[in-house]
Amino acid sequence: MTEKIKKRVLVVDDTESIRIVMVTFLKTAGYEVATASDGDECFLMVPSFQPDLILLDIMMPGIHGFDVLKQLKSDPNTSHIGIIICSAKDYIPEKYLAIQHSAFAYITKPFSHDELLAAVGEYFSISHTSITVSVPVAEKEQFAVSLDSRRPYIRFWGTRGSIPVSGAAYIRHGGNTPCLEINDGHSTVIIDAGTGIRELGLKLMSEPNQPLHLFIGHTHWDHIQGFPFFVPAHRQGTSLTVYGASGFGKDLRSIFSGQLDADYFPVQLHDLPSTIIFHEMKENPIVLDTLNMNWCYVHHQGATVGFKFALNGKVIVYITDNEFLKGYCGAPDVELIPPEKLALYSNLIQFISNADVMISESQYTNEEYAKKIGWGHTSLSNGCLLCKLGNVKRWVITHHDPMHTDEFLDNKLFLTRQILESIGYPIPVSDAVDGMTEYF
Ligand SMILES: [Zn+2]
Ligand SMILES: [Zn+2]
Repeated sequence: MTEKIKKRVLVVDDTESIRIVMVTFLKTAGYEVATASDGDECFLMVPSFQPDLILLDIMMPGIHGFDVLKQLKSDPNTSHIGIIICSAKDYIPEKYLAIQHSAFAYITKPFSHDELLAAVGEYFSISHTSITVSVPVAEKEQFAVSLDSRRPYIRFWGTRGSIPVSGAAYIRHGGNTPCLEINDGHSTVIIDAGTGIRELGLKLMSEPNQPLHLFIGHTHWDHIQGFPFFVPAHRQGTSLTVYGASGFGKDLRSIFSGQLDADYFPVQLHDLPSTIIFHEMKENPIVLDTLNMNWCYVHHQGATVGFKFALNGKVIVYITDNEFLKGYCGAPDVELIPPEKLALYSNLIQFISNADVMISESQYTNEEYAKKIGWGHTSLSNGCLLCKLGNVKRWVITHHDPMHTDEFLDNKLFLTRQILESIGYPIPVSDAVDGMTEYF
């Protein structure tokens, strides 16, 4: 009686538990199996066992599995033996190297009973020259999510107060003076024409020409000094409306015209080929195509206003220059502030109340503020109290002092969180930085 000749498979793996599992699978499927625990043992086994197929691990002590593969395939006595690499290394380069050196297949550990027997069965049933390489795939279905860039957004083009700064100490926060772009998907609205507006102008030049609305919080230098370099104003076909508050000094047109006086700049306002309309705000809100801009006088020199608008249902307040609780250097506790003093700010508190995001300043630390009372800016702890009184849900701090380096602002931000916690109002707070975009 003759027994059907079994196919012989040599399992080469340094891990005993894996060898046991593989041997069990293979024997159950009817193969004759032998094992080796490393490359040296493999070379010893091959002449005596005469395997038809070797299942070869690669990360083994002693001779690396790829060297075993190369040696077996380059020796005319063993080159006919099929080799399937069985490895935990699930990388493309390993798989291609295996192909290059004529492995029949590459299967990745951990493999199932079915995967192992399918690879072995394939070797014995089909052409021995076929190569199968499985490309690694994610274990679970990939969670695919992409940015919806059509959503309304705001972008900070300048977040520095008073004067631009540059240099290594200011790299992370940036040095451009205030400019905020608001894009609701329909109109382009800009607040402030600090030096940040120069780069915004370059971006707008690469987009379809559309009416531009520029709101000026007040006309101190840092809020208008980028205007001469706002390229869309130098383009024929641009329609630009500049909005500002009235009630102080010169009218808006005279201020911009004066800024472009021949003593200061080579191009005068009347030379600009764009159509510029100056609009002194009387009505409130200012109604644009798809956006209503509310405004409110705030506590700063001159006719200074803050703004409020909504994007995607979220109410956003933007107030760059404002001295809340002028002269008050005490603890941020409303009980300590005389009611008649607080009453001076009731319109402001009403204006910001329940804002989803307030973008505003607290330009000075408490120590700095004590020396700069009346300069038109708020102390850190007074700024925290304003958020609490307005029930603001999130605070983004802007109009950073030119003396404050990145490191200083990091510490100041941490101190802000500490104060907000201490007054029982720990809302999220962050620093605005040049180039920062927030989608709504
Ligand atoms: Zn300012
Ligand atoms: Zn100012």
